[in-house]
Amino acid sequence: MIYKKHPKAVKNAPKKKSQKIVSVLRGFRDILPEESYAWNYIRETTRSILSDYGYGYIETPIVEYTSLYKRTTGEHTDIVSKEMFTFDDMSGDSVSLRPEFTPGVARAYIEKGMINRTQPVKLFTFGPVFRYDRPQAGRFRQFHQLNIEILGDASPCSDAEIIFLSYLLCKKFGIDPNIQVNSLGSVESREEYIKILKEYYKPKRRLLCDECKTRLNKNPLRLLDCKEQTCKDITIEVPQLIDYLDEESKQHFVKVLEHLDEAQVPYELNPYIVRGLDYYNRTAFEIYVTKPVVDDQEESKSDNPQQGAIGGGGRFDGLIEMIGGRATSAVGMAFGIERVIEASEKLKAKNAKNEKIDVFLARLGEGVTKHALPLFERLRDAGISVRANFSKDGLKQQLEIADKIGVVYTVILGQKELLDGTIIIRDMENGIQEVVDLSKIEEELKKRLKR
Ligand code: AMP
Repeated sequence: MIYKKHPKAVKNAPKKKSQKIVSVLRGFRDILPEESYAWNYIRETTRSILSDYGYGYIETPIVEYTSLYKRTTGEHTDIVSKEMFTFDDMSGDSVSLRPEFTPGVARAYIEKGMINRTQPVKLFTFGPVFRYDRPQAGRFRQFHQLNIEILGDASPCSDAEIIFLSYLLCKKFGIDPNIQVNSLGSVESREEYIKILKEYYKPKRRLLCDECKTRLNKNPLRLLDCKEQTCKDITIEVPQLIDYLDEESKQHFVKVLEHLDEAQVPYELNPYIVRGLDYYNRTAFEIYVTKPVVDDQEESKSDNPQQGAIGGGGRFDGLIEMIGGRATSAVGMAFGIERVIEASEKLKAKNAKNEKIDVFLARLGEGVTKHALPLFERLRDAGISVRANFSKDGLKQQLEIADKIGVVYTVILGQKELLDGTIIIRDMENGIQEVVDLSKIEEELKKRLKR
């Protein structure tokens, strides 16, 4: 059958010359191989420590029903009201790219009947999250989080464990963290406090920034961590949440702090940590580094460290019930991976330090190439770090590449040597070449590399 191009298709086909490069979306970025050492280190360190502590790795879908986030994160929070990537799918359902992990993990806990497992269920996950915020240094529209959760435990020991693990991981990442903790009390005591907050701010309403004027009705707790100077000046004398805590939350908070003291985790009390999401109760914490991570002018002027947090978390005892599960106490945290890397000289050094490669495998002459791949695998299997470039045939070109990589030896597999069962080892420093037995190449290299 002969296909004819539709006349319009030809007419509309873009001219080759004028094809523009399609760029990456604003606030999104590629992670290149040379950046991957830090990422791999974080993943491996996290996996090793968290599995020792009994946490299982979970992956949840990137897309969930929008209602999941509306019901948990909260309809009036910045994340849900302004920052979600929301669209209708082909069947007309409103779905969203996950703006955080906790609601998805909680949904999986309910749907997969994890309540029937031995409690608590400890989980961790890692991956991209999406928020349509104004991009700037340290703030992306797609970024990555490491998320750690303990589901099914009300004990203050679990709050302390999550904070302790956050501290431990920071140390492993080469970060000296500044952990700021607060208690938000029970939902009921918070409602009481919110009334007092509203009464406090109402007479000063006209002095508040536009956003806080809206927050006053919709999410008044967020007034406490507004970074506008006028709002901060007003907030200085605000009644403190801690003075309105219910007795049980007070006791819980004291115990969390005792556990932290016992585990020698340094922390600061900060009554302005509110976390901004609807589902938190009792413990709330954020993690900062001394060096500001975000150097946005507007924010560096401000001493409110909200934007510079590398991580944060807290207790969310009501969340699972909010989406139809049985009442389940839970606590968790999330690190922002891009900010963790930016804050850590240790992690950045991992990226800067090039991998050390010992050997380059070069080929010379026709019919040799097919023997190169099995030989490459033999060397790799023997624990020798090796590189090759199978798209270049000329020996000069291959030696130039070997030089660029900075290998110690190049092994040259030639036609003649192959017939003799031998191979050449070239010392890249002085150019001296030696012919050795091909069957013993691994030992010969290891001897020279002093392995
Ligand atoms: P949150 O869920 O808002 O508490 O965020 C947890 C962590 O994710 C923060 O402490 C930041 O490290 C990181 N984070 C949040 N928003 C962004 C963003 N837009 N870009 C990069 N990292 C972010």
